[in-house]
Amino acid sequence: MKITRVEPFILHVPVTGARIADSTNQVTHWGAPGVIVYTDGGIEGFGYTGTLGHLTTDRLIRDCIGETLGPLLVGEDAISVRALWQKLHSTSGVHWVGRAGVTQMALSAVDIALWDIKAKAADMPLWKLLGGSESARVEAYNTDGGWLNWSKQELVDCARAMVADGFRGVKLKIGKPDSHEDLDRIEAVRNAIGPRVNLMVDANAIWDLPTALRFGARLKDFDVYWIEEPLGPDDVPGHAQLARSITTPIALGEQLYSPIRFRDFITAGAVHFVQPDATRIGGITPCWQAVELASTFGLPVVLHAADMVQVHLQMSIAHSACDLLEYIPWLRHCFEEPATVEDGFFKTPQMPGAGTTLRADAIDKYGVQ
Ligand code: MG
Repeated sequence: MKITRVEPFILHVPVTGARIADSTNQVTHWGAPGVIVYTDGGIEGFGYTGTLGHLTTDRLIRDCIGETLGPLLVGEDAISVRALWQKLHSTSGVHWVGRAGVTQMALSAVDIALWDIKAKAADMPLWKLLGGSESARVEAYNTDGGWLNWSKQELVDCARAMVADGFRGVKLKIGKPDSHEDLDRIEAVRNAIGPRVNLMVDANAIWDLPTALRFGARLKDFDVYWIEEPLGPDDVPGHAQLARSITTPIALGEQLYSPIRFRDFITAGAVHFVQPDATRIGGITPCWQAVELASTFGLPVVLHAADMVQVHLQMSIAHSACDLLEYIPWLRHCFEEPATVEDGFFKTPQMPGAGTTLRADAIDKYGVQ
């Protein structure tokens, strides 16, 4: 099945509520630079990455796909996904100008589109192609209600509503200028949801080590399930020291751009819940490697879902290390078969492919140049 054309796109999709913030970002819409890969067999593959929707940087990703990676794909057999990943990684020259960020995100979008083709050609959903079983269940936890710029009462009301909807896990953003305020908000939500619901917190890499040591130690008072990205995303020894000093488990991985970085954090004892992101690490191909690596060390994997829940749901169904997944429903209305939660668990997708096929009107509605 020969690749005939590679067409990049950029989507900018408004987010729910339109006033979303964590400790480092304000978000009004989500960016999804991506690609449609066409084949002579009539099958089209869809892949994309995720950004904060800055048009100038989204264009860098789009152009890396269209001008650097795309020409290397035309004429190739779309089914040879791993070989094509290796070709793009090692002969395109992108690794020379960047092994993280733009180049890996562009490669991610392409790799996801190729897996989408491979699963469609096999006439099965990706989870089945990867060896998963229909009976696997993936629990959902909800992040779309714990935003840092919301009032404490809004957090409490939203957490209660999510639990009433069947979610058994909710995540709060932390990282207020006064960390005591973070503790107040965590306490209020814990009291509102009771002891049986999992409560995660996410600092989005804003704390320094002294703050993390001091306030991280207080999280056990509220039975916090994990503290996510407490420190800068590349700080292996800092996370290792924190892991030795507090009892609350550490989650991270959404800003790691290669399986080797996961090896570094895991072998240093610096992470407990492993969170690779297929839309950043270079696609499903290296993301699967990171999942297997974590699994070998006996660590649970909770793929960084956000809007990328489509491919991460497929992978989670397929791998026994992944039984929990984040839910942020910002992009779901763009897809033919959006990830759907019922009674706190994701429904198993049935359509052939990686789940990334866009609705016919998505690019007309949200496409930007
Ligand atoms: Mg996070």
